[in-house]
Amino acid sequence: MQNDSRSPVVVIGGGPAGLTAAYELQKRSAGHRARVLEGSRMVGGISRTETNNGYRFDIGGHRFFTKVSEVEEMWNEVLGDDFITVPRLSRIYYREKFFDYPLKLFNALINIGPYESARILLSYFKWQVRPFRREESFEEWVINRFGGRLYMHFFRSYTHKVWGINPREIRADWAAQRIKNLSLFKAVWNAISGANDTTSLIEEFKYPRLGPGMMWEKTAELIKQQGGAVDLRSEVVQVNRDGNRVTSVDVKHWTEDGAEPVMERVEGAHFVNTMALRDLIHAFDPPPPPEVIKAADKLKYRDFLIVTLVLDHADPFADNWIYIHSPKVKVGRIQNFRAWSKEMLPDQNTASIGMEYFCQEGDGLWTMSDEELRELAASEIEQLGLAKASDVIGAAIIRQPKAYPVYDGEYREALDVLEDWILSLQNFQTVGRNGLHRYNNQDHSMLSAMLAARNILGERHDVWTVNVERSYHEEFELKKPGPEAALAAE
Ligand SMILES: Cc1cc2nc3c(=O)[nH]c(=O)nc-3n(C[C@H](O)[C@H](O)[C@H](O)COP(=O)(O)OP(=O)(O)OC[C@H]3O[C@@H](n4cnc5c(N)ncnc54)[C@H](O)[C@@H]3O)c2cc1C
Repeated sequence: MQNDSRSPVVVIGGGPAGLTAAYELQKRSAGHRARVLEGSRMVGGISRTETNNGYRFDIGGHRFFTKVSEVEEMWNEVLGDDFITVPRLSRIYYREKFFDYPLKLFNALINIGPYESARILLSYFKWQVRPFRREESFEEWVINRFGGRLYMHFFRSYTHKVWGINPREIRADWAAQRIKNLSLFKAVWNAISGANDTTSLIEEFKYPRLGPGMMWEKTAELIKQQGGAVDLRSEVVQVNRDGNRVTSVDVKHWTEDGAEPVMERVEGAHFVNTMALRDLIHAFDPPPPPEVIKAADKLKYRDFLIVTLVLDHADPFADNWIYIHSPKVKVGRIQNFRAWSKEMLPDQNTASIGMEYFCQEGDGLWTMSDEELRELAASEIEQLGLAKASDVIGAAIIRQPKAYPVYDGEYREALDVLEDWILSLQNFQTVGRNGLHRYNNQDHSMLSAMLAARNILGERHDVWTVNVERSYHEEFELKKPGPEAALAAE
């Protein structure tokens, strides 16, 4: 904008973090102008809502649940009455049986049988007496709290599906971040005594009536109304710096019709990044020192794809989602989008079922054609006994790269190197989920972005500690302790 005396702030990425940074800045300061550069054709990032023939669906169902008051305030400020309250119902499918989730003692006992239940308890006591002395891996962490037998039933195969690697190779940090201090003993005791049952029974979450994308589309509108800008199809391909100051970014503006992209250099006084750290480090010109690049290359990601099937009849099950532990099928979790919001479906006589697959970009699943994926999902839903393959009348497939930052044996050290170098830049911050390589939900992605905006306005916050310190561990502070949190890979 010409003759604009406001200080320009460039935001890379229009997902929850990037949009929150811009929204916060526009709300708090008349002296700044935020310009969000989003590489894809829509806002919302992993929290977007896609549409196919009037069927709306998430990249994995997105619950809105937080204990961060500022985040809650922003959700209400932006969407207000467009939030609905959804009762949560979810189960685990394991050994051809459905287990209530959160686990309920008697349902679990009946399903698993008294003999196996006794073995679970014995194994629990054995590991209480002789635990692993050092808890370095996810496996050790879980076994120390739940025993080997329960780990084998309810953690090993699902965790392997989600991450694609042996749970022994996953750092205990992930478990510690996702599972609050639980123990099998507490879980069993609560089930017997009924403690906390009333709160767990009414467990519910907020959800925008048209899916999470609604939140981010509205936020983008408000940013524009407040004098900021949100540019779609604008991919940042280079971050230019002069010593420890970032001066500009090079943006590739592309169009849907395949016309030659147009390049633009966008200057700024401050920069907020939300693209994945590994990509970011490779985008700097001049490049960072070799040890920083080496550290960035150590970061790994897990990718994800969803095949949303339309069925010719109403929902085959009432759950919002079902965890599929069975190693016989590749699907990891199944969503029922009508159970999230009826408005996600244009025709209430049909069902919209999201079959979620955890995968690796370039692997067998990722490279399957859309037709093959539709067939796979249809055959698996039949194999699970939830619907017939012939009931499928439509399908939409979305591949989501870098859905999960991986916490393996190398990531922590690598992240320390990256953090030190990025903190040496004067006017550049990185936030969000992949921007911090942290397993953040929307709320913590947003909180880090709010803090970055406030830093630009002169406050001093450490964005790298969001969702690291104990006080930020609200999300999985379960109302009823039980092993469920460990299974809840989003
Ligand atoms: C399967 C699954 C289920 C989940 N469920 C929940 C849930 O129930 N509740 C919840 O709160 N959270 C959930 N999450 C987490 C939530 O999706 C993330 O916390 C959130 O989307 C992160 O926001 P972000 O802005 O940091 O990153 P992203 O959502 O990844 O957004 C980053 C944006 O940056 C853009 N971008 C990347 N590179 C560039 C570039 N070079 N130039 C321009 N733009 C670029 C991308 O296109 C994207 O739009 C889930 C995640 C997954 C994978």
